[in-house]
Amino acid sequence: MADLFSPRQRSSIMRAVKGKDTSPERIVRRMAHALGYRFRLHVSALPGCPDMVFPCRRKVIFVHGCFWHKHRCKRGDRMPVQNREYWLKKLDANRRRDRRHRAALAKLGYRVLVVWECQIRSPRRLESALRTFLEEEARLR
Ligand SMILES: [Zn+2]
Repeated sequence: MADLFSPRQRSSIMRAVKGKDTSPERIVRRMAHALGYRFRLHVSALPGCPDMVFPCRRKVIFVHGCFWHKHRCKRGDRMPVQNREYWLKKLDANRRRDRRHRAALAKLGYRVLVVWECQIRSPRRLESALRTFLEEEARLR
């Protein structure tokens, strides 16, 4: 598949992915930035205080840790051996809260993308997921 980006854009994207601060949220931020998108961070006025908000597009992105938000993946399936009950309850509550926030955002007309920590490991796929999400027109207005 032909690369959609110039070598310069491509290297800026790769730099973004391999940057020093490798927290998942930073990586997604840098990638979106390198792709040319502008956004606001942690808008507490919106349900769930989304990590990235694209006001003109009416879209938001959450970057979720697999463990804390109970992703259905290897990492998200892990459960601490100690205090199992406590963790089960806590992580379930997180999941329910995430769902509430997504529903509330949808009601306000926002489209929501959740980027999972484990997706960061496939930069190309993540990049195309970001572009698809950000470029797609809202079907319902
Ligand atoms: Zn995951």
